[in-house]
Amino acid sequence: MSRRILIIDAIPTRRIVMKAKLGAAQYDVEVASDLKEATNMINVMRYDIIFADAGLETAAGGPKGGAYGFCEDLKRNAATRDTPVIMMTDPAEKGDILAAFKAGFDDVIIRPLSERVLLAQLRALMRRRAANEGLDGHHFVSELPSSRPKPSPKLAHMTVVASCNARARTLAATMQGTSDDRALSNITAHNYLGIISALQKDPALDTILLIAEPGREEGALTLLSDLRCWSATCGAGLVLALDSNDPTYAARAFDMGADTVISSKTPADEVMLRMMRLARLKHQRDVLKMKVEDGLRMAITDPLTGVYNRRFAIEKLGQLANNPEEFALLMLDLDHFKKINDLHGHGVGDHVLSTIARKLNTSLRDSDLLARIGGEEFLIALPGASPAQAVGTAERLRSIIDKTRIHAPSTSLPVRVTMSVGLIHSTGELSDVDALLAKADEALYQAKTDGRNMVSVSAAA
Ligand code: GH3
Ligand code: MG
Ligand code: MG
Repeated sequence: MSRRILIIDAIPTRRIVMKAKLGAAQYDVEVASDLKEATNMINVMRYDIIFADAGLETAAGGPKGGAYGFCEDLKRNAATRDTPVIMMTDPAEKGDILAAFKAGFDDVIIRPLSERVLLAQLRALMRRRAANEGLDGHHFVSELPSSRPKPSPKLAHMTVVASCNARARTLAATMQGTSDDRALSNITAHNYLGIISALQKDPALDTILLIAEPGREEGALTLLSDLRCWSATCGAGLVLALDSNDPTYAARAFDMGADTVISSKTPADEVMLRMMRLARLKHQRDVLKMKVEDGLRMAITDPLTGVYNRRFAIEKLGQLANNPEEFALLMLDLDHFKKINDLHGHGVGDHVLSTIARKLNTSLRDSDLLARIGGEEFLIALPGASPAQAVGTAERLRSIIDKTRIHAPSTSLPVRVTMSVGLIHSTGELSDVDALLAKADEALYQAKTDGRNMVSVSAAA
């Protein structure tokens, strides 16, 4: 799919040259000559990347503050907040670059542009955007709470990696010294080998600055691509600092996974701003990822008891039934549960249900499946269980529940509940899930009619 780029530049020749270069690389490029025109275009069209010249001036009716104010507006607006905005500038004063990052620009490119580096940088941006889109698509599950702690959005864990420890430590100390608030960042230092062992101990790195000293470029690039692949660092922001002006290294670095490539002469405060920005992006992605995982977990979990839900149980049962391995299926139903609700109230009934689920769960092996498939009905699958093992497990569970006394907050005496169990054993010949469930149900019905608090084995097992 073609990606849409907007170039905003008041100078026609620059607009035309850049449009031609990016167009040749299959991007869908549109141009604007001032910020008002650009704002009108952005209001009706979604762009994947926006390039804005630093010298753009405030036009009548356009955003205030020139290119900087324009970028601030984009980052304030939910519809455009995630669109990368890149400033293009002639060799600039240090203050201009810092101001650009503070205004929210995602990167600053200093002319003259190397076409090769620019295209590699765009590929890197597009890759990251495509990966984030996979997460954004799950926003519909995002409002439910997570059981795990969220990553702290405040503290950025960063590290400087150089060929020798002393150089890395000096740089880390200089960068830490530029930080307005030291509590916001924690910067460690390693040499090329040290980072590998450090990752085993502390995998929670948000941004890594990799220094490629002269003659060390190949080693740094190899380490960079390793860092992008390892599970501990694949989501971290990666910055490569190059001494060499050879654009080949920068282009290769972007293609091997760098988020940013800078010169080793870049001032420490600018490096720090870039690193903090990448750490913030990583935190945002981590939160999104957690929401997606929570959503997936909730789609297969029963909210009251925390065990699997019916949908997941049926899916799993289908897999077991289509596998030649033997397995047993237990259908559990609490006896006279309605009386517990009638006697103690629905709240106590809920408490009993979740206590029973917990008891069952802790009494099973990890490979067994427990699901709540109805109000007071549970299903258990025992993969690989022989008929004798299955009967043994069913009896054991029935007895555990029989002996359990449940203390609910609002009852003076402990509540007692029993359960009936229908059991069916399959050697893999019955692959129809509905037929399996019907047989297990028949056995359960038998256990109920035989007097409850017992296990009944399906005759057809
Ligand atoms: P039996 O021994 O024949 O199974 O009797 P029973 O009372 O358990 O069965 P019945 O089907 O008559 O009633 C099931 C009860 O389970 C009725 C319903 O209110 C209760 N129930 C179902 N889901 C929930 C729930 O989520 N929370 C609570 N507290 N009760 C529930
Ligand atoms: Mg029932
Ligand atoms: Mg019941």
